[in-house]
Amino acid sequence: MNRRRFLNSTVAGIAVCGLSSSGQGGVQGGGRPAVIASANGLRATEKAREMMRQGADTLDAVIAGVNLVEEDPKDTSVGYGGLPNEEGVVQLDSSVMHGPTRGSGAVAALESIKYPSRVAKLVMERTDHVLLVGEGALKFALAMGFEKQNLLTPEAREIWLKWKRELSPQDDWINPEDRLPESIRDRQKKKVSRMLFNYGTINCNAVNDKGEISGVTTTSGLSFKIPGRVGDSPIIGAGLYVDNHVGACGSTGRGEANLKTCASFMVVEFMRRGLSPEEAGLRVLKRIVENTVEPYLIDHNGRPKFDVKFYALNKRGEFAGTAIWSGSKYAAHDGAKNKHYEVSYLFKREKTG
Ligand code: ASP
Repeated sequence: MNRRRFLNSTVAGIAVCGLSSSGQGGVQGGGRPAVIASANGLRATEKAREMMRQGADTLDAVIAGVNLVEEDPKDTSVGYGGLPNEEGVVQLDSSVMHGPTRGSGAVAALESIKYPSRVAKLVMERTDHVLLVGEGALKFALAMGFEKQNLLTPEAREIWLKWKRELSPQDDWINPEDRLPESIRDRQKKKVSRMLFNYGTINCNAVNDKGEISGVTTTSGLSFKIPGRVGDSPIIGAGLYVDNHVGACGSTGRGEANLKTCASFMVVEFMRRGLSPEEAGLRVLKRIVENTVEPYLIDHNGRPKFDVKFYALNKRGEFAGTAIWSGSKYAAHDGAKNKHYEVSYLFKREKTG
């Protein structure tokens, strides 16, 4: 059975849009090297490509790339400025994988440290472990010379307080504008509604001209999560997987779905069997859809109410971003240009209203 027929037979039964033939998405690149990232990583792919051009190791390059987003207070999904858990505490998750040395390192529920990806790399380099969590991860980071700092920016705190006061009509939290006379209330309301809730993560993967592959995923995780909740991002095989013989895949979106399916690992395994990054991503997304049966997670057509996105590349430098739902983008540098591409997807999002 050839590659295309294999894919067709496995996706039969659900609407699959966005394959290369539809004009959306498709497999890009093909001449090494390449760097791919989630949509918030356009600066990361640029930075990583530039460092690789100057001879940097692929893991150092992608970590330097995502550091730009980890330290950016305006990105409320990652590092400093990330949205906190339900108690107002920012807890960060990150993992790294270095293909050439088969190294992996990760931290989960790490507090007060701006660059969890750098700590994850040190777990890989300086310990015989793969994953450190919570207080242990913090102690390790301090021992490695990192400094504690408050990661909750005033903007993230305001978004958390808004979430808190809107949880229940029966508690004693109120909207500040509700105390105001009608005439000023409208003006104030506009200000509040501009505060957008943000879910996200950054994943960045790279292959250089020697075929060396690395990846990193870093996040503040699901906003307002139960303290101690760990998502897919720091779990090797779920939010990130690299095999130096094959390629890399990382993910953003509903972490619980990736945790239950070992999703990034499966994408890389499908690429090992000969599927393109696009075909492999869509194949695993279909598996996630099939395994989503909880009534609160599916719409009236039986489709997930959430999204999951994959960012995959192979050793040849081919890459693709895939998602359950249409409409989102990913960032990639194909060695010549750095830009956003449309994801390939399973379901077209219907316009509402
Ligand atoms: N995958 C992340 C998590 O579940 C969140 C996200 O990417 O939006 O923690």
